[in-house]
Amino acid sequence: MAKYIFVVGGVMSGVGKGVAAASIGTILKSKGFKVTAIKADPYINVDAGTMNPTEHGEVFVTLDGDETDQDMGNYERFLNVDLNRDNYMTTGRVYQSVINKERNLEYEGRCVQVVPHIPEEIISRIKRAAEKNDNDFVITEIGGTVGEYENVLFLEAIRILKMQQPQDVCIVMVSYLPIPYHIGEMKTKPTQMAVRSLNSTGLQPDFILCRSEKPIDDKRREKLAIFCNIKPNHAVSAPDVKSIYDIPLNFEKEDLGNKIIKHLGLKARPSNLKKWQDFANKANSKLNKSVKIGIVGKYFTTGDYVLADSYISIIESVKHASWNNNLSCDIEWLSSDDYERDPEKLAELSKYDGIIVPGGFGSRGVEGKIATAKYCRENNIPYLGLCYGMQIATIEFARNVAGLKDANTTEINPNTPHPVIHLMQEQEKKMAEHNYGGSMRLGGYQCKLTRGSISYEAYKKHAADKVNKDTIIERHRHRYEFNNDYREKLEKLGLVIAGLNPSQKLVEIIEIKNHPFFVGTQFHPELQSRPLHPHPLFMRFIETAANK
Ligand code: GLN
Repeated sequence: MAKYIFVVGGVMSGVGKGVAAASIGTILKSKGFKVTAIKADPYINVDAGTMNPTEHGEVFVTLDGDETDQDMGNYERFLNVDLNRDNYMTTGRVYQSVINKERNLEYEGRCVQVVPHIPEEIISRIKRAAEKNDNDFVITEIGGTVGEYENVLFLEAIRILKMQQPQDVCIVMVSYLPIPYHIGEMKTKPTQMAVRSLNSTGLQPDFILCRSEKPIDDKRREKLAIFCNIKPNHAVSAPDVKSIYDIPLNFEKEDLGNKIIKHLGLKARPSNLKKWQDFANKANSKLNKSVKIGIVGKYFTTGDYVLADSYISIIESVKHASWNNNLSCDIEWLSSDDYERDPEKLAELSKYDGIIVPGGFGSRGVEGKIATAKYCRENNIPYLGLCYGMQIATIEFARNVAGLKDANTTEINPNTPHPVIHLMQEQEKKMAEHNYGGSMRLGGYQCKLTRGSISYEAYKKHAADKVNKDTIIERHRHRYEFNNDYREKLEKLGLVIAGLNPSQKLVEIIEIKNHPFFVGTQFHPELQSRPLHPHPLFMRFIETAANK
């Protein structure tokens, strides 16, 4: 029988609930348990695919093609597993299935009510994830903060499950303890209020992970114990860290894993985090050399603030590849809009050891990205183009090497004389019907590598075990594709088709001849990079960058 751990947030969002949930998973997995994780998001959107990245952050695509929250990426990276549709739910998705069941008469004439039918649907989804691989633990993170109207039905589901199986449910609150500058002391009051608010839903936390600038001291542990009704050693320190990969190690210093296990009536077990520790140490030690990587994107700003959330998997992939190559990395945000406004600024790209042009949609900043690809091609700067970054590199090559004036993607200019990137045929009907939700080419598809290409060499060297007869599987999220009518012409001029989908003949990877590293992928390799299994293309990109 599985045990259920729920992670809820107190005081405010953005304190790292997702990483905390993933870290608990890492610890339990290292003890030999089978662990899976679920993200429950309170919004009405059926998935994250229809939201603007600056509003929501990265859309993390699972192997089975679900467009989910970026926390799912943390779970996959920390647990080293492929998650799927069963691991992600939103209020919209839960309601949608209850309504569909009602329409199909599956409630056999009963009145279908918010309670209990919505929480029951939530519980059945959690149990389904538990059963899938016979998991010992299911860690479910409830999005948002306790006290919000939005996530009350998820808390209600926990209450019902706990009433049915009290010995199998553990509630962990990740809360924020401010140290106001003018007082200089860590304050527990906001957390006390958050616990009261959770209590009002009929739930009591078993553990409080105390997020703060500094570790929590004994005096405040005592306070939390008395006011929040927990054991003093169940208030666990969660201070700010340099790298998120330190978090499981910090929790283990307080034996959090065994405390949770014992709380759930199981016997304590040792954990084995040796490999993880070796990896995490790289973030804190001085390495041989550093690589400087620029990401030329557009989803950075929110009001007056700059957030890198939209590109989180790319950032982590760069870290994985750098640290596994014994290199430090320095990542900088470059706005493609700037290069559009001021082409002279492009010269600054020479300062970087490598440039990444990530995925994107629409026309803003595109000409700046095209200029970036041109600059990297002409100046031998390692270039990694991801999805839109690959399409953009194709447009640049068509315009400036093949002389196809005004070549473009039909996403930007439907009337371009040279649609080198065009809408996939299967997408045409969907667009005509305004069918936008979950309708892109999503998830894992095959890509057959071309022998002798840089990409082929990279996979052979770094992931031979994942290559089956020269074919790999990577994750996708796009509507447009390389137009095969232009293939021959561009190939003759030095464009290399380094990867092709075997059944659709869809171009998956392009490269440019006689360049140290100029690779564009229609897929998103960043979604499959893991701390201890860095992605082959990122490995090769970083290796080349280090030698620039
Ligand atoms: N906008 C492009 C397409 O739909 C690229 C998508 C992406 O970068 N994820 O094909």
